[in-house]
Formats: sequence, structure tokens, C-alpha cells
Amino acid sequence: MPSKMKKRILGLALGSLMIGGLTLGLASPTVQAKSKEEPKNQTYYQIKKTHKMQWGVKGDTKLMGLMDIKTGKLQGFDIDMAKEITKRVDPKAKPVFTQITSGTRIPMLLNGNIDAIIATMSITPEREEVVDFSKPYFKAGQAILVKKDSKIKSIKDLNHSNMKILAVQGSNSLQNAKKYAPKAKGSALQDYATALTALQSGQGDALTTDSSILYGMAVDNKDTKVVGGNFTDDPYGVAMAKNDPKLRHAINHAIDDIKADGTYDRLAKKWFSDVPGMSWKEVAE
Ligand code: GLU
Repeated sequence: MPSKMKKRILGLALGSLMIGGLTLGLASPTVQAKSKEEPKNQTYYQIKKTHKMQWGVKGDTKLMGLMDIKTGKLQGFDIDMAKEITKRVDPKAKPVFTQITSGTRIPMLLNGNIDAIIATMSITPEREEVVDFSKPYFKAGQAILVKKDSKIKSIKDLNHSNMKILAVQGSNSLQNAKKYAPKAKGSALQDYATALTALQSGQGDALTTDSSILYGMAVDNKDTKVVGGNFTDDPYGVAMAKNDPKLRHAINHAIDDIKADGTYDRLAKKWFSDVPGMSWKEVAE
């Protein structure tokens, strides 16, 4: 996308962060209308020209996307998938990573800072209004994390007005949890590191998001546990700006290839085989 055009929609996209970001990370209808005016396949041609594919990834979700402070590098299943997809979209391209949060990812995409998002992002009808998704690449589902000494066994135990559920802004997790525990209070924090600290310091009764994220937290935080199993089915997709069918096609093709040539299984094994509660054989969509 040419930088001029990116800048033109920047203000609108940031506006959407303020309006919609707190709940779903969605952009306002104004942004949708504006981004549809762009010429077709802009991002795809830009990748082919610059040999760079700019990805929005998580830096605070162990197993999926985490900043390793020793090496200064991002690592995780989503990061490896981004590398593998990049090679297949353009064999000469290098992936470039930008850290996003659940709340900033859609505005960052719409203002042209990144070409695609691969960041524990579930495909939802609301999001499909403003971005395009690839085919699902990961079978995710939502669960809860509680402190080890907690008596809470499932999401239903949270359905009381004296219970507080923690989640992050821009994710769909709090909204989903409220369907099962409508009486509970909710608090959406800025990122997963903050939400985990809030749980550990007793500022909430449970933290809810995808179990793939929660199991990663439980590995390093022995004072917490995942309970009750998944209560939703929220597969992940790669998100990209609308009006880029060539990019979508290339990414879908890459995902098929990654599964067919054994790369997917190798990565699933690498990241999930030693994680208590997870089965690497069951993550493929
Ligand atoms: N998969 C859920 C979502 O896309 C939660 C994980 C996240 O916050 O990225 O909202």
C-alpha cells in the first residue's frame, strides 16, 4: 500500500481504536468504506516488489507469539507459521515482525503498518465486516485460568455478581464468557501480561481467553491452573485488508502446502508436544 494512502486512513483507523477497540478491536464503518476504495491487490503487489512481508504478531503469548528478552527475537507457533507462509507467498521475501495487541491489531492493519495479522486471532462475523480472513489454520477454543488454590472448576462457577472475570481489550473473550456467566463482572485489560498479573494479585477470580494462550501461561506460572476445558470453538485465521484476493489466495495456498508437506505437524510438535493439557495432534483445523 503506498504510504500516502496509508496516512490518509491513519486518522480514521486510530479513531476506530478508540471507539471499537475496547470491545472487539473493530474499525468503524468509515474505515471500511475508505479501505474499499483502494486499488485491488495492493498489498500483494507490494510484497512481490519489496520482498518484505510485514506481519502483526503477539509478543506476550507464550507458545503462540512471545518476545524472548534474552535474544530479542519473537518466537512461537504463529511466528513460525508467518515465516513459512512468507516463503510460500514470495520465495524471495523476508518476514518483518511488528508487535501488536488484541486491541491494536485491526487498526494497525487498516492503517497500512502491517500487511497481515497472525496473532491468536479468531475468525468472527464482526471482524469479517472489516478484514478478510484466510482459511482457519488453528483449532482454538476458550477456557479459564484460575489460581491454583481456587475452588472454581468451570465457567459456570463464575456466574455470580461477586465474581470478576479478567480478559484483554480487543479480544472477543469477555463477550463470550458473559454468555456463560452473565451475572459476573468483567474487566478488559491492555494485554495478557497485565491480565495475568491482575489474576495473580487477586484482582479477579479468573482470566479467560483461548486455552492455547492459557496453557502457555500455566507452564511458567505454577500458582495458576487451567480448568473446565474449552467452552467455545474459535479457530484462528490470518487477517488481511479487504480487496486483496491475490494475497488471500496466496496465503490459503501456503497454509495448504504447510499442512501437506509435514511442516505443520513439525511446528505443532515443536511448540505443543511438551505442554501439559495440550495435544499437538489436535490443533490442526
Ligand atoms: N482468539 C481470541 C480473539 O481473537 C482471543 C485471543 C486474542 O486476544 O487474540 O479475540
